[in-house]
Amino acid sequence: MRLTKGQIKRHKLIYGFFKLLLTKPFSKRYNFTFEKSGLPDAPYIILPNHNTELDPLFIAFCFPHTYFVASEHLFNKGFLSKLLTHFFSPIPRMKSRADVTTVLDIRRRLNQGCNICIFPEGDRSLDGRTARPHPSTGALIKSCKVPFVTYMLEGSFLTHPRWSLGIRRGKMTGRVVNIHYPEQFAGMTPEEINDVIYKDTYDDAYKTQNKQMIQYKGKNLAEGLESALYLCPNCGRPEHLRSEKNHIFCECGMSAKYNEYGYFESDDIGIKNFTEWYDWQRAELYKMAEDAYSRFFVSDNGVCVYKIDTQRRHVKLPQNSIKMNRQQIILSDENGEKIVIDNSSVSGLSIYSRNCLLLLSKQDYYEIKPYGDKSRGFNARKYLHLYEFSKKENTNEFLK
Ligand SMILES: [Zn+2]
Repeated sequence: MRLTKGQIKRHKLIYGFFKLLLTKPFSKRYNFTFEKSGLPDAPYIILPNHNTELDPLFIAFCFPHTYFVASEHLFNKGFLSKLLTHFFSPIPRMKSRADVTTVLDIRRRLNQGCNICIFPEGDRSLDGRTARPHPSTGALIKSCKVPFVTYMLEGSFLTHPRWSLGIRRGKMTGRVVNIHYPEQFAGMTPEEINDVIYKDTYDDAYKTQNKQMIQYKGKNLAEGLESALYLCPNCGRPEHLRSEKNHIFCECGMSAKYNEYGYFESDDIGIKNFTEWYDWQRAELYKMAEDAYSRFFVSDNGVCVYKIDTQRRHVKLPQNSIKMNRQQIILSDENGEKIVIDNSSVSGLSIYSRNCLLLLSKQDYYEIKPYGDKSRGFNARKYLHLYEFSKKENTNEFLK
């Protein structure tokens, strides 16, 4: 949708107002500082790494008026979504599939002289490291023919890890990494442009923390970990972890403290930090999958299943349990009514928010969410990892 000059003027005024109102208190709350460096004339595209839900706000503190490309879930929040659309007019992007309308909206706004911010990973970091840009990013950047600015938000993963229930106060910084002009990247392939973006925005939270050793203080620091960690390093079993206050426990007796530096302290495990645990459990899950061709070894009861129609309406289905093996995902209801999805037919499986699962199979789009007392502990990542395993298997990547 093309914006009118009046709408753009209104958006600029509101943006300026909120920036004036929020920059100081939020910068203080998060101990956020940023460099004010020379930027090109508008329009340009800002490409930052992405760790916290508040990243658009931090980017807004650092840049003049900008429109954000946002996950479609921002548009399903009723009155709040209407307010956000009225004031900031973000551009929606479907999470599990490329959307032609998104690209057209971006080009229109740039043509009207407005800046755009895209989080190239399309998602907040799951493991503390910057992920590769969404494959479509390079082609989009190339076709827009405006400069792009790569931006680094450092310290944000340990301030608000994706799995956490609350924030911690440590240190966050923002800085421009590079400004790339069209004449520099016109001759590059989209993949080469993605390589440049990835290199510029790559951060490994624990590698940085190993050097800096900054304290990230807060309450109940470990709570929520079981929504990201599913395998116990002590007994090797999945789905028996739980967190309380500053500790993560397993039914086997394993106990580990998550300290203010973001590291684990424990005599029961040899793992030092979240990223290490995350990599280890994925590798272990792959091994389990290799040995269990048909066994369903990841499952959850008490979930909400929604089907999303072409008008983006959420229709609640009676199915309330999920299980998955190497070949299939099965959603069942109390009466045994099943929806069976072959892993090979899944074209997109991702996570949004802390622990909600998004699944695109052929033309069917599902959301699987925890509810009630499961909301804290539901672990969507084991499904993601098993899906990644199936995908590698289906493309014979393991044979290469
Ligand atoms: Zn255990």
